[in-house]
Amino acid sequence: MVIGLGPGPAKWMTPEASAAIAAASDIVGYKPYVERLILRTDQRAHTSDNRQEMDRARLALKLATEGRAVAVVSAGDPGVFAMAAALFEAIEEDPRWLRLEIAVAPGVTAMQAAAARLGAPLGHDFCAISLSDNLKPWAIVERRLRAAAEADFVIALYNPVSQARPARIVEAFDLLRTVKVAATPVAFARAVGRADETLTLTTLGEADPNLADMATLIIIGSSETRFIARDGARPWMVTPRAYGARR
Ligand code: SAH
Repeated sequence: MVIGLGPGPAKWMTPEASAAIAAASDIVGYKPYVERLILRTDQRAHTSDNRQEMDRARLALKLATEGRAVAVVSAGDPGVFAMAAALFEAIEEDPRWLRLEIAVAPGVTAMQAAAARLGAPLGHDFCAISLSDNLKPWAIVERRLRAAAEADFVIALYNPVSQARPARIVEAFDLLRTVKVAATPVAFARAVGRADETLTLTTLGEADPNLADMATLIIIGSSETRFIARDGARPWMVTPRAYGARR
């Protein structure tokens, strides 16, 4: 089973995901995600580095072929920039793997958790872009950012930064500023649902892209997205369901 653990807290994990973890003999995943789980002594954890996705997928498939009940875990949703795709990329390497019984348990993805905190920034058309250029050329990222901005999507940015490429996020904001107006609402949602959660609301013109780290999801509004001010509280970030006045 490929399982989404949600963005952090247990309340944002589905009952299906919890049950699947309880039923597993072996849990395979990136170390910090596996460490979030409370496992029994009869369950085996196989943890690895974040970059070893394909090895992790092959290990899970191999264990399952041996008859183990394997849970492959991802933060958020396993199908969003995560292990479900890696598993299916590996699956044709061994004909026995194609005969395995595999199921995917969905999870709350970071973008949904962030949106819930902020109000309703994804209320109209949106897209999700990973800024990671480990797995795709940066030119593709630039093309997508430009196209998404020109098409007036709300943009959710995953994997905004890493130590290996600290300047990419600055380049991304520079590009977006050439297409979208400076007043466009922007939110940095960091570690949503966890004890160190921080939410920063700003505008594209004033945003400091260096606020983002690897635990941050950035939402950049469309031309319709706006902040609704509140007394003594963070404004709501809302993208109306309709362009123009509602009938
Ligand atoms: N499968 C995950 C995404 C994996 S990519 C999901 O569906 O959420 C990792 C990126 O997800 C991080 O760099 C960050 O942009 C985002 N992310 C994951 N958990 C987060 C959280 N609790 N708060 C904010 N962003 C998060």
